[in-house]
Amino acid sequence: MQAGRSACRRSAAELLANDAPEAVAELERRGVAFDRDAEGNLALALEGGHSRRRIVHAGGAGTGRWITERLAELTAAEERIDLLESSSAVALWSDGDRCHGAVLEDGLLKAGSTILSTGGAAALWRRTTNPRGAVGAGHVMAAHAGAELADLEFCQFHPTALTLPGSEYDGMLVTEAVRGEGATLTDSAGERFIDELAPRDEVTVAILERIDQTGSSHVDLDLRGLDRDRFPNIFEGLSRAGIDAETRPVPVLPAAHYAIGGVATDLEGRSTLPGLFAVGECASTGLHGANRLASNSLTECIVLGGRAADAAVDELPDPVAPAPPSEWRFTPPTEGTRDAVWKLAGPLREPADLEELLNDPYPLAVEIARSALSREESRGCHRRTDRTAPDPGLDRSHLIHAADGELRWEEWE
Ligand SMILES: Cc1cc2nc3c(=O)[nH]c(=O)nc-3n(C[C@H](O)[C@H](O)[C@H](O)COP(=O)(O)OP(=O)(O)OC[C@H]3O[C@@H](n4cnc5c(N)ncnc54)[C@H](O)[C@@H]3O)c2cc1C
Repeated sequence: MQAGRSACRRSAAELLANDAPEAVAELERRGVAFDRDAEGNLALALEGGHSRRRIVHAGGAGTGRWITERLAELTAAEERIDLLESSSAVALWSDGDRCHGAVLEDGLLKAGSTILSTGGAAALWRRTTNPRGAVGAGHVMAAHAGAELADLEFCQFHPTALTLPGSEYDGMLVTEAVRGEGATLTDSAGERFIDELAPRDEVTVAILERIDQTGSSHVDLDLRGLDRDRFPNIFEGLSRAGIDAETRPVPVLPAAHYAIGGVATDLEGRSTLPGLFAVGECASTGLHGANRLASNSLTECIVLGGRAADAAVDELPDPVAPAPPSEWRFTPPTEGTRDAVWKLAGPLREPADLEELLNDPYPLAVEIARSALSREESRGCHRRTDRTAPDPGLDRSHLIHAADGELRWEEWE
């Protein structure tokens, strides 16, 4: 609740805190081997913004991969699941009142419940830790189908992404967990300038300010002295990028990391469009407030994903044959949009820049700009250069993008 800067939905935070231990136990029962200490207890790690060790890992920094690989294995072995691996959804089948399924590149899928799990939108920003496909396709399709979006002004910037301009490794995440184990951040004079385990929004701003003061192009993350075996992926990844992190500090800068906003849902994943659910990073449950706390997203995927699945099985397909879907199809953003979003709606935002972004051809870029202009304050990861403090009047308030294009504020408890 503190890291979310008075913008977290309390009921979502309570749900996550209560249900996460059982979600971890359930994953273990399904064969995900979480790291354990010498006594055989779960090895709990400390990450940014956390006041105690509470993060479980599988294979060090490979947690996401280990979980998804195991779940993919189980899915492939389940006869009642049909997998269409090389097909993309290009629209939702909606008459504006209900979702009846999805339009794929090569056909239609009719369904009583459609669950979007299309991931985030942080690759809309040029400098990003995300895979290039994370451009909010689900957000755009859901909005076009008639669902409401929320909290689009909140994109979390990760403070420590590798900076190697022009290289394919530029933007590679150097996980916070290394700072939890003692890695330090230093400026061009070798001085530490921030509590490395402060929440991400604070560390991001501290880095940008320090670069501004020193005229340097980056700050350094010093991993020397850390146990390489604890973070094999990080050391190997850096090594592939040409950096021996055991002998020299790593040049880092903030990069867009996590899209907090998305398809507005309740705590069972229901969007405002009947028949449409959203889970994971494409959803906006209000859990993360204005500043996602490290590692809450995978936890949210599992806890809220399970609840959405339970709720979705009760929806029956509409017996009345719906009208065929319109001609509209999702069009991905151009590289120009990615440059514009980074330049005009990056970690520090100016109203004139945001107004310029309103002219972008990609609909989600425009909605991000509208949200960032409407939230006339700085809160968490949303930083305005003209309004540098939070407005207490906006505590707990979420900015909703209605299907008719209107913006409105809602308080989520
Ligand atoms: C480098 C990095 C490190 C991270 N570390 C952590 C961490 O330590 N702890 C933590 O909690 N979180 C972490 N996160 C965040 C977390 O990984 C994500 O929030 C989470 O994986 C999102 O899961 P998801 O299932 O919602 O989406 P994703 O895992 O992004 O999956 C979305 C899927 O949908 C597919 N898709 C998209 N559009 C379409 C379409 N139109 N049709 C068909 N398929 C489509 C995509 O190809 C993709 O396979 C990290 C993120 C990154 C980038």
